Amino acid sequence: MDKKLRVGGFTPFTAIDFPGALSAVVFCQGCPWRCRYCHNGEQTESKYDWQQLLQHLQTRRGLLDAVVFSGGEPTAQSALETAINGVLALGFKVGLHTAGMYPRRIAHLLPLLDWASLDIKVLPENYDAITRVPNSGAAPWQSAAILTTPLQVRLTPTPR
Ligand code: SF4
Repeated sequence: MDKKLRVGGFTPFTAIDFPGALSAVVFCQGCPWRCRYCHNGEQTESKYDWQQLLQHLQTRRGLLDAVVFSGGEPTAQSALETAINGVLALGFKVGLHTAGMYPRRIAHLLPLLDWASLDIKVLPENYDAITRVPNSGAAPWQSAAILTTPLQVRLTPTPR
């Protein structure tokens, strides 16, 4: 089990990653899929220390509304829930960008989220050709069924 969130990138300020809110974006390191147009999954080292990022976010209270966890794939890390709770404790809203490969984890995290964006790439039967992982197509569509209102869900078709 991951003790600390592995972070591959950080955007300290954005107005476009959480609807109607100023946010910071935490790009979680790694992804179990291997989409051929993406190199996020190949990162192995965390580039940021999560505790230091949390301290930085503490200084942004009153300036930011939300923190978005993106990737890579945030739900691939068992440390995500603790990281989300740390952000909530600072008074921020929490957003999640996910490819939806772990629907049960998403269902578990759902009560903690204020907004989520789900990347639906293609129809289920066509996923494996993109992700290069067998039988990867069912999970994102199960996640789509879980991520209902009050969360805003964005379905993002991805070019092959
Ligand atoms: S699911 Fe997203 S992060 Fe993972 S390999 Fe595909 S495009 Fe990259």
